[in-house]
Amino acid sequence: MEGKKIRRIALLTSGGDAPGMNAAIRSVVRTAIYNDIQVLGIRRGYNGLIKNDFFPMDSRSVNKITAQGGTMLYTARCAEFQTPEGLQRAADNCKYLGIEGLVCIGGDGTFRGAQALSEYGVQVVGIPATIDNDIACTHYSIGFDTAANTAIDAIDKLSDTMQSHERISVVEVMGRHAGHLALYVGLSVGAAVTLIPEEPYDMQRDIIDVIREGRIHGRNHSIVIVAEGVGNTNEIVKTIEAETGVETRLTVIGHIQRGGSPSARDRVMGTRMGHYAVEALMQGQNNVIVCYRDSQLCTVDCTEALSMKKKLDGYMYRVGKEVAI
Ligand code: ATP
Repeated sequence: MEGKKIRRIALLTSGGDAPGMNAAIRSVVRTAIYNDIQVLGIRRGYNGLIKNDFFPMDSRSVNKITAQGGTMLYTARCAEFQTPEGLQRAADNCKYLGIEGLVCIGGDGTFRGAQALSEYGVQVVGIPATIDNDIACTHYSIGFDTAANTAIDAIDKLSDTMQSHERISVVEVMGRHAGHLALYVGLSVGAAVTLIPEEPYDMQRDIIDVIREGRIHGRNHSIVIVAEGVGNTNEIVKTIEAETGVETRLTVIGHIQRGGSPSARDRVMGTRMGHYAVEALMQGQNNVIVCYRDSQLCTVDCTEALSMKKKLDGYMYRVGKEVAI
């Protein structure tokens, strides 16, 4: 299984944080140490790589982090890394520190950075982590399950009180460019309507008529889920209230969705993907992303992965509509 013997690797988390990143960090560190590979933790994503902000990690430095949300390595965005000078500095630092492989945990932007760095001679492997689950090459990204459960928990609580007052709840969930999270949450809470950036909607037909029809059939509380990327949520709320005559309240769940103790799924996926990433480096794989496809882990070439576009689950969208009557 092994390619050349690697003696030292580094790892970083970059872009938006996601619950389960810590499980991946722990797994990378422990798998590396198990295989006699030293590990350097890089703080604050690519910023740390440029600024040489690192520390040696051992088995004990990742004790008990699996249960914690966020990332113990911190995360940041780094504009300088997108310049040839920044990339060169990062590559020079890797060489100076004897880093023979780099694990980058994050989303599409993080992988674009990893790909760029590999062109400067650094061996890289990516691990997908984003609550949006919008990375095309993989069916699952670390953080999605916890974020969905956090949103569901909040909406269930909200529903209890909204139902007592027979109000309409409009709930904005995260998802600037993708509706996977909103769709999943909408199905889970029995939303009357779910609006996502990928699907245009007609205010009267897709929202007002559906809510009215529901009330006629005895639904005294309707939930409307809106993905952040749909925009103008305030307008949607005002129009619903004006057209239905029912008190309508907006709740923006916001960054709460990013936090919290990771679910079992995110802990296990983080651990499995971290292990797989180190083995991929040991095999000499470069410029690849660890992916979960058809219930199995695999690696996908980064360039190919970044050219893919993730399609919305059209069937799930249809199910949501058909069971909302
Ligand atoms: P999320 O979507 O969850 O926020 P992400 O990984 O997509 O995660 P980004 O902010 O898009 O987050 O990217 C993280 C970092 O990756 C950027 O701040 C930048 O340092 C680096 N990066 C992004 N695109 C490139 C690129 N084309 N070349 C070099 N580096 C890049």
